[in-house]
Amino acid sequence: MNSDTINHMAAAIRAAILAHEADIESLDREIGDGDHYINMKRGCEAISNIAAELTPLPAADALNKIGMKLLSTIGGASGPLFASFFISMGKTLQTVATPASNDIALAFAAGVEAIMQRGKAQAGEKTMLDVLIPVAHTFKQLAEQGQTAAQIATALKPVASDGLESTRNLLATKGRAAGLGERAIGHLDAGAKSCQVMIHAVCDQVL
Ligand code: ADP
Ligand code: MG
Ligand code: MG
Repeated sequence: MNSDTINHMAAAIRAAILAHEADIESLDREIGDGDHYINMKRGCEAISNIAAELTPLPAADALNKIGMKLLSTIGGASGPLFASFFISMGKTLQTVATPASNDIALAFAAGVEAIMQRGKAQAGEKTMLDVLIPVAHTFKQLAEQGQTAAQIATALKPVASDGLESTRNLLATKGRAAGLGERAIGHLDAGAKSCQVMIHAVCDQVL
C-alpha cells in the first residue's frame, strides 16, 4: 500500500458514499439528527481535494494527514472518531516501509481501538463499531493465516453486512439515538451503514 493506493481507495469510498446518499441520510434522520450523509460527503470531498498533496507522502504520513483533515472538516460525533481512526492507522504504520496485508490489518485494528477509546464505546451499542470491530477481527485473523488480498476482501464483505444488520435490533447506548430507548429498535445505525458502504467499496477495488 502506498499513497496512490490510498487516493484510489478514497475515490472509491467517495463514489460509494455519494451513491448511498438516500440510505445514509434517511437512517440518521430516523434515529439521529439527519446530518450524517452531509458529514460523510464533506469528509470525502476534503480528502479528494488534498489528493495531490498526499501523492508524494509515505502511506503512514498520508493516513495521518487524512485524519488531521477530517478532524478540521467533519463536525458531529463521527468526525473526531474517523479522524482518530486514520491518525492511529498512520502511527501504527510509521515504521513500516511497504505495508503488506498483515501490517494493514494491524493498523486497521489499531484504528478501531482508537475509535473505541475516543468514543468510550464497545460492540453492541448500535454504532459504527458493530461493523468495524468484527471486520478488524476477521481481517487480522485472515492476514495472519496468509490469505491473499482477494480472499480477505471476499470474506470481509459479508462480515461488514452482518455487522450492519446486527445494529437493527440493538438499543442505542451511545450517540444521539441513545436517548430514544426502544424507539431505536428496528432501525439500522447510520454510522454502521456508512462503514459497511466504505468497506464494501475498498474490498471491491481489491477484487
Ligand atoms: P452526530 O451524531 O453528532 O450528528 P454523525 O451523524 O455524523 O454525528 O454520526 C453519527 C454516527 O456516529 C452514529 O450513527 C454512530 O455510528 C456513530 N457514533 C456516535 N457516537 C459514537 C461513539 N461514542 N462511538 C462510536 N460511534 C459513535
Ligand atoms: Mg447526525
Ligand atoms: Mg449532528
